[in-house]
Order: sequence, then C-alpha cells, then structure tokens
Amino acid sequence: MPTYKNKNMKQITNKTMCVLMRSGIEIWVNQERAEKISNLLGVKNIRFLDIGKETINSADVSGIFSAKTMEDVRRRKNGQWQCDLGTWHQRGEKCVCGELNKYPSYSGVANIKLNKQKVLKKQSN
Ligand SMILES: [Zn+2]
Repeated sequence: MPTYKNKNMKQITNKTMCVLMRSGIEIWVNQERAEKISNLLGVKNIRFLDIGKETINSADVSGIFSAKTMEDVRRRKNGQWQCDLGTWHQRGEKCVCGELNKYPSYSGVANIKLNKQKVLKKQSN
C-alpha cells in the first residue's frame, strides 16, 4: 500500500511548528493548525485546547515556534554557538569563517599560478 505510506510521511513532514509547553513538552503541528491554536490562545474564555489527541491548558503554553527556532534552541543547549556569518560552531571552537571569506579568490589564483608553472616546466623539459 504505497499511497498509505506516502500519506503518513507527508503528515510527519507537514508538522513544522512546535507548541512548546512550559513543562518542556513539544507538540508538533502543521502550519494551519499552529495558526488556529495561535488564534485560540488569544481568546480570553478558552482555557483548554485540543491538539490532536492531547488536551492542553492554554495557560501552560510557552509559545508556538518554528522548527528552525526549536533547532537553534537545541543547539545552544548543547553548547553550540552561531557566529555572525550564520555558521554553527561547537563549544570552544574558534570561528574562522570570516578569514575564509576575506580572500575568496585568493586560493583560486594561487592554484592557477601553480598550474602555469607546472606547464612551463613541462614545456622547458
Ligand atoms: Zn563562524
């Protein structure tokens, strides 16, 4: 039953938004549902929300976050840090991203020169 399998996979990948509870529980939902929950959280009289099979107290919701934000938080918790150029580094790792980008064509030029020298050597032999 390949269609059934695909349907399941689609459901998993659609869940790109996370309803994060104060307790740390993560409830992953799709964009559409995230927007509905977000709207409901703004309604004063609603205390409990049904999310799939779960029922949550709206007062216990810490926020609704994108998968990227959740990933960033997870990395920071693991001691990683992000430099100005957007690259994640391990704890204690020195950032050399800026030095690599300073002379983007330099290594290329050096290689061309070396190759020319090789060619010249070959010709003189
Ligand atoms: Zn860096």
